[in-house]
Amino acid sequence: MAYFALAAGHGASDPGAVNGTRLEKDDNLKLCLKVGKLLEDRGHRVDYYRTGDTECTAANCREWMKAKKADFALCFHRNSFSNITATGAEVWSFSDELSVSLATKLSAAISSSSGLYNRGRKGNGAAWLSADVPCAQPEVGFISNPADNVKFDNTLDKIAEAIANELENVFGPIKNLERIAVGTTTDPLNLRVGPSTASASLGIIPQGGKIDIYSVEKNWVRVSYNGKLGYSSADYIKIDYFSKPSEEITIKIPDIKIPKTATEETVFQIIGRSVRDLIDTVFSGWKGN
Ligand SMILES: [Zn+2]
Repeated sequence: MAYFALAAGHGASDPGAVNGTRLEKDDNLKLCLKVGKLLEDRGHRVDYYRTGDTECTAANCREWMKAKKADFALCFHRNSFSNITATGAEVWSFSDELSVSLATKLSAAISSSSGLYNRGRKGNGAAWLSADVPCAQPEVGFISNPADNVKFDNTLDKIAEAIANELENVFGPIKNLERIAVGTTTDPLNLRVGPSTASASLGIIPQGGKIDIYSVEKNWVRVSYNGKLGYSSADYIKIDYFSKPSEEITIKIPDIKIPKTATEETVFQIIGRSVRDLIDTVFSGWKGN
């Protein structure tokens, strides 16, 4: 289970950007509540800055994010520009690795789920974000652009789901991932955003921590611990057993044809090659290739 702090920008006497009777504060709240509901349904803890038409200022939002210390915080917005052809979704963040990575993925996910042009990750920083905690500010299309508003209205559920999915891809649990093994950490071990010691830490798995393993990439394993998904070094994990009989692979030794004239060394080479091929096949099966 992860913990998310979700804010809908503006509110009360501050409508945010306006297009006729359409107010940004309302759009922000709609999307915020949908994303939060999905995350809560999937077992995560969610705190909301506001659930109704109450005030959310940039300064208060920054302080709130900092105080909440959630695994990830979002402040939802919509863009606006004097030229009504300005279009697309973008996501602002500070430059810490987790926020950059998620902002980039969120912008792509919002775009692909809605048909909005992907303007990508923007930064560094934004008025509504705290530099002290991992967070991002989605700008979900231009309220000043009628076509963007149609996309926002028609795909709101899909956008919310895409955002929740991207958060789950980092913080898990991932329902769609196939667990291939379980393991125990032999030392306190960093759970990282990516498969590298240069990647940001999502937290420390204590020695003796029981982890689920989803894939092996060189000497890094994709694991989850307490519902959080990330990467850890394989050097400090004892892989205990393959978790379910259905996840085991049956290895059938193929017939190996050896000429009667073969020397002892040739027989050794032929069998060796065959076993090597078998190991490759089994290992790529484990990796799901
Ligand atoms: Zn705004």
